[in-house]
Amino acid sequence: MNRFKGKVALVTGASRGIGKEIALRLGSEGATVAVHFNRNEAAAAEIVREISTAGGKAFAIGADVSKTSEVASMFDTLDRELEVHTGRRGLDIVVNNAGISPVLTIEETTEGQFDEIFAVNVKAPFFVIQHAVGRIRDDGRIINVSSMSAVRARPTLVAYAASKAAVNGMTLALAQHLGNRGITVNAVAPGATDTDMLPDSIREMLKSRVALGRIGTASDVANIVVFLASQDAGWLTGQLLHASGGQEL
Ligand code: NAD
Repeated sequence: MNRFKGKVALVTGASRGIGKEIALRLGSEGATVAVHFNRNEAAAAEIVREISTAGGKAFAIGADVSKTSEVASMFDTLDRELEVHTGRRGLDIVVNNAGISPVLTIEETTEGQFDEIFAVNVKAPFFVIQHAVGRIRDDGRIINVSSMSAVRARPTLVAYAASKAAVNGMTLALAQHLGNRGITVNAVAPGATDTDMLPDSIREMLKSRVALGRIGTASDVANIVVFLASQDAGWLTGQLLHASGGQEL
């Protein structure tokens, strides 16, 4: 399938986990993919190689997205890379996937930890989108990776839950703001998903709460994100889709 032929996608946090699967899927279906990484340049280069070997186009782009100065320079690099790889600037799909989820109760959370969680999970997608708005073409797609933790009680993820609730709020506001350009803005809330982020200690407990009877894979979640990025999802905006196999229904 070549659903994304001619489209350009930026996926943050794409060197592993859910972001990696999203980047691979978009690349395999024809998109030119900017594979964003924080520190693991080698892993991002491997994903670029996989996409290129399969006949797609991709390049790696590094930044600590919790720092607005690095987000700004990431977009400068993106502009230059896109001139090289596609002959023009501009984006069609932005996936804000990078995130952190330290396991902390309210008593345990320091101000520094709170600020870091909000810098990565809220400030980063906010300023990524701010930079993307002037570059994204009409009928584009913005997808924010949220979490079910924003809509189900998680006492040991309280700052994380609050940060993902903020993502849901910004998704709604931006869907209204950008709708007149045909740009859709949606959020995907993964349930328990088998990546480095999921603590071993809660896997069995969460599995017992999933209607489909298992923990999700990164590819299960990527399927939903890629659907939202497609033209078929053009009539969905401002929505929060639970990608959870029916967790805690
Ligand atoms: P992961 O830890 O494998 O991936 C997180 C990615 O974010 C990594 O690539 C990491 O490099 C990147 N990242 C973290 N801090 C960064 C920074 N400062 N700058 C740039 N990149 C940074 O975990 P994952 O499960 O693949 O998580 C992807 C998204 O899914 C996250 O937003 C997470 O909150 C969300 N999520 C995951 C689960 C789950 O069970 N795995 C559940 C709900 C939501």
